[in-house]
This record gives sequence, structure tokens and C-alpha cells, in this order.
Amino acid sequence: MQIRNPRTGIYDYDLTEFSAEQVEKIAVNLRKEQSLWWQSGLEMRIEQLQLFAAEVVKAKPELVKAIEEDTGRWSESELEVDALVQTITRWCNDAPKLLDVVPARPASIPFLEIEQQYYPYPVVGVVSPWNFPLLLSFVDAIPALLAGCALLIKPSEVTSRFVETLSVVLAKVPQLQKVLALVTGGGETGQAVTNNVDILCFTGSVATGRRVGEQCAKLFIPAFLELGGKDAAIVCADADLDIASSAICWGSMVNAGQSCMSIERVYVDSKVAEEFKQLLVAKVSNLKHNYPAIKTGQVGPVISDKQVAVIEQQFQDAKQKNARFLCGGEVVNLGGGVYCQPTVVDNITPDMLIGVEETFAPVLVIETFSSEQEAVNLANATKYGLSGAVFSQDIEKAHNIAKQLIVGGISINDTALTGFVHEAEKQSFGLSGLGGSRMGDESIRRFIRKKALLTNTGVRSPWWF
Ligand code: NAD
Repeated sequence: MQIRNPRTGIYDYDLTEFSAEQVEKIAVNLRKEQSLWWQSGLEMRIEQLQLFAAEVVKAKPELVKAIEEDTGRWSESELEVDALVQTITRWCNDAPKLLDVVPARPASIPFLEIEQQYYPYPVVGVVSPWNFPLLLSFVDAIPALLAGCALLIKPSEVTSRFVETLSVVLAKVPQLQKVLALVTGGGETGQAVTNNVDILCFTGSVATGRRVGEQCAKLFIPAFLELGGKDAAIVCADADLDIASSAICWGSMVNAGQSCMSIERVYVDSKVAEEFKQLLVAKVSNLKHNYPAIKTGQVGPVISDKQVAVIEQQFQDAKQKNARFLCGGEVVNLGGGVYCQPTVVDNITPDMLIGVEETFAPVLVIETFSSEQEAVNLANATKYGLSGAVFSQDIEKAHNIAKQLIVGGISINDTALTGFVHEAEKQSFGLSGLGGSRMGDESIRRFIRKKALLTNTGVRSPWWF
């Protein structure tokens, strides 16, 4: 499989496509190794993951380079490697208290005793997308490994170059290597992963998520689906407009808008709409592409060429239906890479794709409201339910609006805080996902099943014949 470099447009990398037979063989092996991994205890698993983190730190330059070549961006590539190390450190600290064996306790029936046991799923599958290739391949994998599971990971075919370097890193941690396998390839390899695991963590689009969810239902295995979004920010008349415009500019344009929790819609009180738009458009217009030097500017190329078609279709549709582009509105070719101009659009109507479908680009639509209820209704008028933001200097009012939004996480007077705060549990509502939270303490328990050991302490049970 030939892989495209998003900065040059050149297909300059050969990716191995794992066949269904190869994936099956790897999974059989993982299953064999998992029981020793689990039975060797949490202390050993923590030790192995700490060793892994140390090796990742040593290999950081090579890993960053691989991610950079696949994603065309620099600071986010650094951030991904750092975040992997932080994720390992955090889970290694937290896992002992979260997986602690609960002492046996008396049941409500006096002569019975309860012992609660944990039993990990043997093989956990991870299928991840291209927007944060390393981070999203490991966000679920690290707690699952600590819980005692073996891991079969398939990153997006668009951004899998890092696998080569990571395999070298893994070879230095042989016990971990036995229970952690990365396979590369496209949808068929992903299907093979699903077919051979006991539980699946999928991050990606709604369309694929639905197919994967259906496959898991047929296989009778749990699926955790983290899918797309069309996050809204509400800006009240009493908001600090300078803060709101800076936060929203960042929250919608960072990583070229290629984050699930990107702000893609803004609803602003009509009383302050003109002033807010001016501030926002000035800030957005000031952003530059990271071209020709990767370490300049703020907005990288569109990583996946399939996404380019989605953006172009939404622009064309909005233009035909008379949306007003306050800035941006074009996809441009720079040195062979495709870049989306940072874009702000108003005069939106409900039939425009740009206002309802995920754009996954540095594109923001603005509408006005004249009452809080109208703002809530507009924000909730979506099939998605990932996250959102509310801006007001009256925190009680902001909280009251936030409570009415049908999404899994809200940032108040900021954006995308769910990407930074890992200890707060959040689920994805609507078509944005299915299953328990991947954040917060409870998330590690997704990978263990609970067994009840019930002991009669020596009495003839009164219900016997
Ligand atoms: P995608 O659905 O096209 O692909 C995701 C992964 O699924 C890839 O690894 C792909 O190879 C694999 N795949 C494709 N068909 C498959 C099949 N039938 N069975 C198993 N695997 C299969 O998504 P994408 O374009 O890579 O990623 C962008 C999407 O991901 C956006 O919608 C974005 O919002 C979403 N996303 C969500 C979150 C979240 O936490 N909610 C985070 C990041 C990205």
C-alpha cells in the first residue's frame, strides 16, 4: 500500500498490509501469551510499561519524524509522543489503587461471604484514525495492558509510519512485546482485527463505527466507539469577547481542525454578534499555514486526501446556497500539499452541509441567537453529541446552559478542555459514540469482567429441600 506525504502530495512510503490470516495468527499468539502477562501481576506489568516509556523517550526524534511525515505537522507530532509517555506514567501511578483486590466481605445474608474478582478480557483490539495516530492508538491500550489484557492495534493506514520505529522500541521490552502487537493495513485488516479480539476500542468516523459496531454485535463482543462530532460553542452577551474569540479561534483551528472535539459551530448572542465576529475573523485571518517551513505558522495540511473532497463539497454547497465567507473558503495547493484556508462562514441555512456535517477542517460557521433557549436548541439540533463550550462571565448561567446541552463534555470559558483533563469521565452522546468513558478512573474497568465468588461459611442454607 502506497502512502501519501501530505506536505508534498508524493506517495513515498510502502506500508505492509496484514492479511486476515496473518492477523489471526498474531491474535492466537497474543491469546497464548496473555495469561502469563496477567498472572505475573500488576507490579511486573507496571515495570514493563515504565521500561517502554523510557524507550519511547529515547526514540522520540525518530517517532516525531515518522508522525511528522504522515501528518505534515510538527508541534502536534511532538505532543503525541510526550502525551504517550504521560499516559503511561499516569496509568502506572493510578492502576494499583484502581485494580486493587477488594477484601472479602460479608453478604447481606449473614452466613455468606462475597469476594469480588477481576478477570481481564484476553485480547483487546484497537482500531484508530489518522488525526492523532500515536495517541489514539494507545489511549485505550495502556490501561488495557495494565488491566492484564493483550493488545492488537491497527492504526489508520493514512498515518502508520510510526509503527516501524515503535516495533524497534518494543523489541527492547521483550515481555511487553509478547502481548502488544501492531498490525498495519486498511479496512480489511481492521475487520480482521475485530474478528480476532474479545473487545474492541474503535476511534473513527460514524460510518465506519456503525459497520464496526454491527460486526461486534454479530461476534457478541463489546465495542467502545469514539466517533465524529460537530461541536458547538455558545457565546452569551455577557461573555468576555476577547477571551471567547481567542479560545474559539484556537479550538476550531488547532491541528487544522482535525480533532474530533474541534469547535465547528458558534452561536453568538445577536446583541454582541458584530463585535464578536470582527474579533474572531481578525484572529482567524491572522493564522498562517505551516508552509514552506514546517515549524512556522499554525495550520498544517489536510492529512487525508479523502477529507479534501469532503471539505471541497461543503464549500461548494455553502457557496451555491449563498453562505457568506467572512474569511477563507478555499482549499489551496502549496508545494504539492493540500491546505484548507482558515475559514469563518455566516448566513447559514439548515440545508447547508457545512452547518450539519462534520467538516474536520479549520472551518467555523456562525449563527446568532436572541434567547438562551434558542442557543440551546440550535446547539442541540445535531445528530452528534461529543462536546461543546459555553462563554459567559456569569458562571451560574453558563452552567445552566451547559446542563441543557446533550453532549458528553463542556468547556466553560474555554474550548476542548476534554482533550487535557483525563480524570473527568465523559461519554459520547448521539452518533458521536457508544460505550463507557475512555477518560476517568472507571475507564480501566472496561477491560475487566467482574466475577463474584460467593462462599457459604458453614451453615445449612435455609432454602434447601
Ligand atoms: P475512519 O472511520 O475512516 O477510519 C478509522 C479506522 O477504521 C482506520 O484505521 C481504518 O483503516 C479503519 N477501518 C475502516 N474500515 C474498517 C472496518 N470495516 N472494520 C474495521 N476497521 C475499519 O476514520 P478516519 O477518517 O481515520 O478518522 C476521522 C474520524 O475520526 C472523524 O470523524 C473524527 O471525528 C473521528 N475521531 C473521533 C475521536 C473521538 O474520540 N470521538 C477522536 C479522533 C477522531
